[in-house]
Amino acid sequence: MDIYREQILDHYKHPRNFGSLENPDVKVEEGNVTCGDRIVIEIKSTLYPLPSTISDIKFSGVGCAISQASASMLTEKVKGMTLEDVMKLNSKDITDMLGTELTPSRIKCALLSLDVLQKAVASLQTPT
Ligand code: ZN
Repeated sequence: MDIYREQILDHYKHPRNFGSLENPDVKVEEGNVTCGDRIVIEIKSTLYPLPSTISDIKFSGVGCAISQASASMLTEKVKGMTLEDVMKLNSKDITDMLGTELTPSRIKCALLSLDVLQKAVASLQTPT
């Protein structure tokens, strides 16, 4: 049985918001050692007017279909979102977004992009 639904494969083959930004406000890269996935997320944010939002986001990476499709879907989901709302996203939001049952090892793949995203957003929220 094929556990990857059509939408996941579509995002894997045709990733949305793939690439890099000119002068991103933040860039974070993380990997998942168990599967070998890597995700890079770059964000531009509008700090004013408050609340701060994600005005543009791009990702790049290599790895399994779940990790890459999850990153692609996540960038679409969070564009325009406030930083505060992005920090509230959790593993259930990701599995709902993917719309499929995942084994524990696959959940790590699915959550990698959220980890990277929240690390990036957290650094934007830290006053410099
Ligand atoms: Zn993976």
